[in-house]
Amino acid sequence: MALLKLKQKIWHLKGLLTIAPSIALLVILGSFTGVYQTLEWATFDFWFRIRDPEPKDSRIIVVNIGESDIQALGQWPISDGKLAQLLQTINQQQPRAIGLDLYRDLPHGNPEEQEALNQVYRSTPNLIAVEKVVGETVNAANLLKEQDQTAMADLVLDKDGKVRRGLIAATLDDGQTVLGLATKVALIYLQQEDIYLEASENSDRQLLGEATFVPIKDNEGAYINVDSGGYQIILNFRGNQDMFHHVSITRVLNGDIPEDLFRDRIVFIGSTAESLNDFFLTPYNNNSSGSTQMPGVYVHANLTSQILSAALDGRAMIRGIIETGEWCWILSWSLVGAGVSLFILERNLLRIDPISSVQLTLFGVLLPVGVLFGSSYYLFLLGWWLPTISSLMAFILSTVGVFGYYNQNQKKLAFTDGLTNIPNRRFFDNYLQEQWWRIKQGKDLSLILCDVDFFKIYNDTYGHQAGDECLTQVAKAITRGIRSSDMAARYGGEEFVIVLPNTDTKTAMLVANRIRFKIKTMQIPHKNSQVSPHVSISFGIASVNHNKPNSPEELIAIADRGLYLAKEKGRDRAVVAEP
Ligand code: GH3
Ligand code: MG
Ligand code: MG
Repeated sequence: MALLKLKQKIWHLKGLLTIAPSIALLVILGSFTGVYQTLEWATFDFWFRIRDPEPKDSRIIVVNIGESDIQALGQWPISDGKLAQLLQTINQQQPRAIGLDLYRDLPHGNPEEQEALNQVYRSTPNLIAVEKVVGETVNAANLLKEQDQTAMADLVLDKDGKVRRGLIAATLDDGQTVLGLATKVALIYLQQEDIYLEASENSDRQLLGEATFVPIKDNEGAYINVDSGGYQIILNFRGNQDMFHHVSITRVLNGDIPEDLFRDRIVFIGSTAESLNDFFLTPYNNNSSGSTQMPGVYVHANLTSQILSAALDGRAMIRGIIETGEWCWILSWSLVGAGVSLFILERNLLRIDPISSVQLTLFGVLLPVGVLFGSSYYLFLLGWWLPTISSLMAFILSTVGVFGYYNQNQKKLAFTDGLTNIPNRRFFDNYLQEQWWRIKQGKDLSLILCDVDFFKIYNDTYGHQAGDECLTQVAKAITRGIRSSDMAARYGGEEFVIVLPNTDTKTAMLVANRIRFKIKTMQIPHKNSQVSPHVSISFGIASVNHNKPNSPEELIAIADRGLYLAKEKGRDRAVVAEP
């Protein structure tokens, strides 16, 4: 019983300490191929969709240019005159910053209108207009460029076309750094709170009020090898379009707005019209439902809101933990999987619980999976993005792996003799049966039965435990004495059997005598034996050759007769019996 317990302990450790880490390693290596990427993204997106909505960010308002507004304007692009009027109307209410998310490098109107717009450009220092700097570029109005009132509108998309990252800044080929639209308007907003961007010493972190910005790395979170160029962060969306205050451009131009609508706010102006096609997929787009895409201006609004809330309210960013930490996280789930398997196997094995094994398995698997997703979500709420799918893989594979290992082990145990650790009677029966049908015409097969001489006396003299020890020694000598093509098993009690395929009687005799001498040289004392002062063995040999016995059983019977003769002739010898 104690031995069984010890064996189980070692077995547990083996399962936990070899299988789980190996599987974790495989899963981690596999993750570098990006196989989990799509599902990791889907999980990440899901967290956004189920998260409680936050209150609208009252610091931001968006002036929408929808399809009906374009109809009302009667032309697109909006004329310089109308744009000047729009900006003036907004500016009269003293917003902190205006983010103009319309590409506008060329004039649209007569010289008078152009001059009116330039006049507004000159008198509105908190107006920021967009340009596109990556790929095919689009300039902002020259005047604004001269006044350093431009920012980039570029967004970064993941391989599945979704926006999950925000571009804080980028460095152009000429070494010049440009800020993103969200960054620039947020910084203007925060100036009035006396909050400025500070580069942290000896790292690429940037401090802004209560916020610390850390640029993403190539393998941030569950990302694998993402293009982390420029200064990017993971976009911690506040919500979709509805989570922002907005007003239509038509109402603003008509003066149909409250007096203080824009006061002290960041005002974005951007297109929401289908025909202008400035839309992006975000985590809020569930593939299965045809939910509407987010207008670009709301992506900027989201990033702005993230920057402001982080700096002013300490709202969490979303970041990955260091890579070794992720590996440990995956390894832990691998260990949990191995542990669950062992737990269930042990319960089933010892039948401790009255509940069925199906219930137990369901519970044992569903509970940890629930905890995995629950904790991943909870960590997401705290601002940490950990690999969930690869952890799930590690958990499942470990569970299955340990189960498989256990079953394999059980099978092996079922065919091994517990005392001597060599194959048992059951294995021998199957093996002989198998070999029997393989004997080809003209080929031989020999069988040797061995029996320890005066073993009953040995037990009586030295005790049963010493008897066990002696049998183990004898089994060792036998296995060492046979060739790799032979098979030795414990036949029962103090009897052993050896099957020698493709072996004639003469060679079987040689093998038997070799074993006999091996045991002799071991000199296991047997003072009351009547044939020798040391333990000795008798052998009975039978062979299949020109006259084949009818069955394996008959072959054994013949060998048994040989053994009987060996005992009769004085023991400590091998005797060949003929059919
Ligand atoms: P012989 O030379 O004629 O073979 O005499 P023997 O005493 O060896 O033969 P017998 O069949 O009379 O006795 C076999 C003994 O082997 C009896 C049994 O108690 C002992 N034995 C069988 N299995 C085990 C075992 O697993 N452990 C120990 N210690 N003794 C065993
Ligand atoms: Mg005996
Ligand atoms: Mg016996």
